[in-house]
Amino acid sequence: MRRYLGIDIGGTFIKFVYKKGDDIEKGKVYIREIISKNRPDLIVDEIRKIVKKYRPDILGVAVAGLIDKKTGVLTASPNIKPLENFPFKDELENSLKIPVYIENDASLAAYGEYLYGAGKGSEILICLTLGTGLGGGAVINGKLLTGVSGSAMEIGHTTIEMDGLPCHCGRKGCLESYVSSYGLERIYYLYTDQKISSSQIITLANEGDLTAMRSMERFSEYLSVGLMNIVHIFNPDRIVLAGGITENYPAVVDMAVSNLKNIAFHLPFRDLTVKRAELKEFSGAYGALGYAENESR
Ligand SMILES: [Zn+2]
Repeated sequence: MRRYLGIDIGGTFIKFVYKKGDDIEKGKVYIREIISKNRPDLIVDEIRKIVKKYRPDILGVAVAGLIDKKTGVLTASPNIKPLENFPFKDELENSLKIPVYIENDASLAAYGEYLYGAGKGSEILICLTLGTGLGGGAVINGKLLTGVSGSAMEIGHTTIEMDGLPCHCGRKGCLESYVSSYGLERIYYLYTDQKISSSQIITLANEGDLTAMRSMERFSEYLSVGLMNIVHIFNPDRIVLAGGITENYPAVVDMAVSNLKNIAFHLPFRDLTVKRAELKEFSGAYGALGYAENESR
């Protein structure tokens, strides 16, 4: 019986899901300090430890950034700088001596939700991950949409305000510069002149603080414009929203959907369901697992 391991490398944790037959085990390892050391070999070492414990036959890897499909090199990874321009796939295969399948984390979050979560049975599934950044993934008729180079679905870096707020990618007015944790912090700052973290804003909003609630509402308006663009391009039957912000303040999804109803074409809205992710923080790891399993068949 083949054993599979799916791992999701983020800026703070490596999350993993291991599968052998019907047995599934999951966990996470804290890596923020390792990432700040700017040494890709230390990240490979952490992965080797997990692999040594579970001894998978195949490894799937989800990682934030743009991965060149032809070479397995991460050409850009704003939140995991040590891995930028690093031949990640080759290094992992050389070090671990097992086949490695690597894909963008948001794409694999979509795939994970499609196989195991809120996207099951969907024909055209779009998944957005609202976290430090804003990631996007699409699964169309069961197949991941990766693009020719491997960089499709960078929804976070589509423009919604020309000359808008600066984005971490260097452009201006990207959807991510409003709909992400740092986007939320800026919206709150515009109302209050106070810099507090997105998790503090969410806590305040949950306690009924009016300015925090107003910030969440504004955030949801930007989100609904992003959703409208997706609906008009893809006409999906399902959109799944993942990430800490929607998990900890679910009302943001309801507000965005009710605004979406007012601004989108009626026809594609009629056939759309918007759901929150079901696999919580493990969507990407589940996607990496399923991707390794299906690609190696
Ligand atoms: Zn951007």
